[in-house]
Amino acid sequence: MIVVFVFIFGLFIGSFLNVVIYRLHRQESFIKGSSKCLFCGHRLYPKDLVPLFSYLFLRGHCRYCKHRFSSQYPMVEAATGLAFLLVFLYVFPGANLALASFVDWFRLVSWWAMSAFLVVIFVYDLKYYLILDKVILPAIIFSFLVNIVLGHSVWQMLLAAVVGGGFFLAQFVLSKGRWIGGGDIRLGALMGIMLSWPQVLTALFIAYILGSVISVGLLLASRKEWGDKVPFGTFLSLATFITLLYSHNLTNWYFSLFS
Ligand SMILES: [Zn+2]
Repeated sequence: MIVVFVFIFGLFIGSFLNVVIYRLHRQESFIKGSSKCLFCGHRLYPKDLVPLFSYLFLRGHCRYCKHRFSSQYPMVEAATGLAFLLVFLYVFPGANLALASFVDWFRLVSWWAMSAFLVVIFVYDLKYYLILDKVILPAIIFSFLVNIVLGHSVWQMLLAAVVGGGFFLAQFVLSKGRWIGGGDIRLGALMGIMLSWPQVLTALFIAYILGSVISVGLLLASRKEWGDKVPFGTFLSLATFITLLYSHNLTNWYFSLFS
């Protein structure tokens, strides 16, 4: 039962993240203001804003002007719901809360927040080919403080951040800024702070596998051409989330490839 509540809670956070992404792009405040239809400007009421269900019930159309909404909205909601559920099941395996300690609750809430940052980076880069400092910098500070509370070594975090950021900085210098943007360098540093050492290497490796498989798939399906822009932050944020949850297994596997 609790897993259903966790998923629904994640849906609502996903709905909020959609608003954050939209208003970041329009440079509006995302605290103030009521929700309006983007096309007819009609005010949206709570019954229009139930995550996932309003979209499914209205078959993706505005109740007032019938304009079609982007499928981004329900997809971000569902993805956030799933991410929140996976984090919950990582912290409380089998959804067993009987032995929950303060550290468990702290990890749950802070990893939910980290996941929310990653969802915003994922969608924003996919949609606008941009990684915003307004998102990355607070995420770096937040993750640093969280990991100190969780007992991570500051030096290992800094080493991982230097390696993660340096990896993209090197490509930035080599390509004179053609392959890589400044946002990727800062995202590499964020990955280091979130994941620490040596898990950052696992995440970079997974990102390249995901990037190659998906790019080749899109090329074969003729959805993209050689030389098209690739939203690399999208792969990096997904790989970071996967590594956060499954780092122990994955890091052992990654290093076993070389031994
Ligand atoms: Zn409308």
